[in-house]
Amino acid sequence: VETALVGATPPADNHSAFLRAQDAIPGGVNSPVRAYGSVGGDPRFLTSARGPYVTDVAGREYVDLVGSWGPALLGHAHPEVVAAVQEAASRGLSFGAPTIGEVELAEEIRRRVPAAEHVRLVSTGTEATMTAVRLARGVTGRPLVVKFAGCYHGHVDALLAEAGSGVATLAMPGSAGVTEAAAAETLVLPYNDLDAVEAVFAAHGDRIAAVITESAPANMGVVPPAPGFNAGLRRLTSQHGALLVLDEVLTGFRVSDAGYWGLARAQGEDWTPDLFTFGKVVGGGMPVAALAGAASVMDHLAPTGPVYQAGTLSGNPVAVAAGLATLRLADDLVYDRVSEVAGTVSTALEEALDAEGVPHRVQRVGSLFSVFFGEAAARDGVASFADARAQDVFRHRPFFHAMLDAGVNLPPSLFEAWFCSAAHDEEAVGRILEALPAAARAAAA
Ligand code: PLP
Repeated sequence: VETALVGATPPADNHSAFLRAQDAIPGGVNSPVRAYGSVGGDPRFLTSARGPYVTDVAGREYVDLVGSWGPALLGHAHPEVVAAVQEAASRGLSFGAPTIGEVELAEEIRRRVPAAEHVRLVSTGTEATMTAVRLARGVTGRPLVVKFAGCYHGHVDALLAEAGSGVATLAMPGSAGVTEAAAAETLVLPYNDLDAVEAVFAAHGDRIAAVITESAPANMGVVPPAPGFNAGLRRLTSQHGALLVLDEVLTGFRVSDAGYWGLARAQGEDWTPDLFTFGKVVGGGMPVAALAGAASVMDHLAPTGPVYQAGTLSGNPVAVAAGLATLRLADDLVYDRVSEVAGTVSTALEEALDAEGVPHRVQRVGSLFSVFFGEAAARDGVASFADARAQDVFRHRPFFHAMLDAGVNLPPSLFEAWFCSAAHDEEAVGRILEALPAAARAAAA
């Protein structure tokens, strides 16, 4: 009976695993970014992950730069995080009642980000941004939401238009199934264009509930906000009585102990959003995300206010244990190491591409970076989704596969950041550096 456990005898190669998966699951994947659509070939079916490494069904080990798309700040399966999860699981998987662990996680978020006065835990980043939109509409009584092309905020109807991440990789303008009415209530503007924001407020100011922005976009590749852009959004939203929602699902607790907002403040910027969304690192690899912000806004949520939001598994005790353990372990040494790894790898990436004459630009925000291929990117940098889409996308496929062949697992899309972790030690980094020259040669061809 024991040997009949599902998955006990997985296929021993990725191709048969993928065939079997496609028979049971649309496209064989449970999230489109995992497919190898833009690079071709079989996605790697993983069986385990530890530190900076992942292992596939064929038993092959890779240095991982996907990091579960962000959560793995400490590396995979950190022993203390795993122990915290095991201990929590031994006390029960889900209660449907409040726990002190949830309070501790909310307090830890607020300790790091003091403007996150009140925190509501949810299970995914999508839920956090979806609730942010509803809350902004509920608080202001206005219908419209402004977002930026190339920013990805999860698969919320209102926020899928010209989205980054998998929507960009698949070159989709949005998604079928989003009604015209929903799309009409979303105004999409070019990123880093404050004049466009000013114009949209001049035209629709009294109907705009919120502007939502990635604090520093990393879903069209990494595109730093222009100096003054986020502060300008704060000024314009305040002037017109709209809320500013800072999406830190990807950057939160990754680019600094207090996310991008903390990084910006450390660099002398002085602006604060009404709402933050967090995800990824805050759950340490388990399903935890959060909506947080000014108590005066957050308390419009049920049960204190009229904006409804709920979840059977919200604040799940096992997931919260993973998030809390992760944040408690993420000290200055961790952030310094992740930044150091990002610096070493991004510099080596530039040098390898330079040596092969591949026109490119590596852009970096804190410990997040990505590469854009092409003359225009190399010359002018990438400031918007239009710039990001204009790059030499064809160079990515050979580059990606050369890295994979050499045992390095990169995001299978150009519109994604590379995720380093504190577990990337000299050996793991060394393996990445060794792989880069041949990959650069492949990209040059
Ligand atoms: N917001 C940002 C900035 C993201 O990067 C993502 C996911 O990649 C989301 C929201 C959605 O989070 P989730 O995939 O947990 O729903």
